[in-house]
Amino acid sequence: MTSAKAAATVVVVGSVNMDLVAHAARLPAPGETLIGQAFAGTPGGKGGNQAVAASRLGAEVALIGRVGLRQHGEDLLRALEAERVHTQAVRRDDATWPGVAVIMVASEGGENAIVVVPGSNADLAPADVEQGGALLRQARVVVAQLEVPVPAIQRAFEIARESGVTTVLNAAPAQDLPAGLLALSDWLIVNETEALQLARAVTLPGDADELTIARATAAHLRTLGPRHVLVTLGAAGAWLLCDAHPEGLHLVAARVDAVDTVGAGDTLVGGLAVGLAEGLVAARAVALGQSAAALAVSRAGVQQAMPHRSELPELPE
Ligand code: ATP
Repeated sequence: MTSAKAAATVVVVGSVNMDLVAHAARLPAPGETLIGQAFAGTPGGKGGNQAVAASRLGAEVALIGRVGLRQHGEDLLRALEAERVHTQAVRRDDATWPGVAVIMVASEGGENAIVVVPGSNADLAPADVEQGGALLRQARVVVAQLEVPVPAIQRAFEIARESGVTTVLNAAPAQDLPAGLLALSDWLIVNETEALQLARAVTLPGDADELTIARATAAHLRTLGPRHVLVTLGAAGAWLLCDAHPEGLHLVAARVDAVDTVGAGDTLVGGLAVGLAEGLVAARAVALGQSAAALAVSRAGVQQAMPHRSELPELPE
């Protein structure tokens, strides 16, 4: 266990998984078996990924989560600590399995398909979050995703809100959410699929392009509480809707040769959280996350592809 720190700038409430990653020329069709080219077991989970992204980009980061110690659990904790992520608020469970993600990556084009088995992540409870209450109150930004139970996230955001701490919800993987959680979220970050699921009330023409979808879904989602909505669009960048950009702003992505797009969203969210913790305005905080994500997709792997701050170009004025 790392030594307790008085304050953490970014606190991530989320999942920790062992990612079992198989690379093949393409993704298999249902029922098909393919011979792959490479395999690796690497630490992942959206919470762990975003914590590592933020730590590499220069923030003081703590994670609140739950890790089963069967098989991969100790390795997962050690890997976080090696990335300077504080784990004193991660609850350890001797008898349960940690989360596991089975990931297939297509060498041609970098597409992926993922099954996540939550394991101990599913047991994260509001009481566990309260154990990390001091960290939450002292943070500048609290970030959560949907691989841990919603009541735990909601409790974390309530505690953060009471202290004026910025809350960032990355609503991934897609699922329906209680209105109370969206009302507690200062930022909502979703990709196009997640945006469409959360904004089912919006009717769109069948031939709507991605910017039209982003524009319409973001407008709807912002009426549900978050002051900032960001819809990410892969290589097409992201759509930001907030007070500073009431008509919306298209933030284009840097052009890179994509090698492996798994974790692009997590890198963006980690970078955005660092930007917000540093006091950047909304669009610049997103740009920091996008700059990190563009580098990450140009390299293989998830956490190992995430850049350190020194690798990023200066943000344009
Ligand atoms: P994943 O689930 O694979 O982690 P996601 O669907 O949550 O990703 P994306 O919208 O694919 O997230 O990507 C997030 C951000 O990363 C984009 O807004 C963009 O800025 C950047 N990005 C993603 N893919 C590329 C790419 N091919 N080239 C440059 N930037 C990219």
